[in-house]
Amino acid sequence: MQDMKTIAFGPVPSRRLGRSLGINNIPPKMCSYSCVYCQVGKTNNITVDRQAFYKPEALLRAVKRKVYEATVRNERIAYLTFVSDGEPTLDINIGKEILSLKKIGTPIAVITNASLLWRKDVKEDLLEADLVSLKVDAVSETLWKVINRPHKDLRLNLILEGMREFTENFEGKVFSETMLIDGANYEGEFKRIAEFLTKLKKLDKAYIAIPTRPPTEKRIKHAKEEGINAAFQIFSEKLGTNRVGYLIGYEGNAFAFSGNVEEDLLSITAVHPMRKEAVEALLKKDCTNWRVIEKLLEENKLIELEYEGNKYYMRKLPHK
Ligand code: SF4
Repeated sequence: MQDMKTIAFGPVPSRRLGRSLGINNIPPKMCSYSCVYCQVGKTNNITVDRQAFYKPEALLRAVKRKVYEATVRNERIAYLTFVSDGEPTLDINIGKEILSLKKIGTPIAVITNASLLWRKDVKEDLLEADLVSLKVDAVSETLWKVINRPHKDLRLNLILEGMREFTENFEGKVFSETMLIDGANYEGEFKRIAEFLTKLKKLDKAYIAIPTRPPTEKRIKHAKEEGINAAFQIFSEKLGTNRVGYLIGYEGNAFAFSGNVEEDLLSITAVHPMRKEAVEALLKKDCTNWRVIEKLLEENKLIELEYEGNKYYMRKLPHK
């Protein structure tokens, strides 16, 4: 079991959440999944049994101390975020913890793999959070088993139904996160995932992610730009472009126009791909020409992609 001092950490910058103070309420590394791309180590203990790990009062004290330290340093905290070395809803006290942490007055976020959301108690526990991020890497049985390597007692249809039911009653923000890896068979899957996401009663943003830290399984590589762009376009068709975003390791900000057209292009294309027409419009606004794009392509900072007859530009990913 970990030291109480490491239960709360940060605040750390998070593109999804702003500055977030992390809460690690699970001892390493206990999870209901053993994802091939997991970036927090091998699942030593794959389980679906909810347990009590820490006393909620002790967790509250650890978080309060970190909040106090951040306040002294004048650091703003946008969310207190359950982001564990494992699955946070395995903690049977998470509902109580959310309720007691709410008294601090900072919104609460939970990053969950959603595998236990078919359970009534888990759904109820998360209702009091302000933001919940749900993992939806696959909606097809075979791919789910290949990517998430779930506990043998889990059933995908129940999990998907659990997510749908949860979003019917949840009043906070809902994000989804779909992690893409290289070499997986995504034939038709992006469309199926997008269709499932449209069935959620509430979805503020669907994030397309790639592993940005070394995965536990050394053979696993992140998806290539073509796959990421295809997923983005298919999700956008179903959900609308402004509800889809990337989490690909760059701290891009689509809304910060620095006035430096190169920086702006790299910053925007780190969050979502830009169609050729949109790039042209941006260049025009800056009274410059296509030479800027040629330079970024030559420097390997930008990549040109084709999807259904259109040209898109995306930030080049670091290929190790
Ligand atoms: S659900 Fe999260 S913590 Fe669990 S194995 Fe997958 S990536 Fe790792």
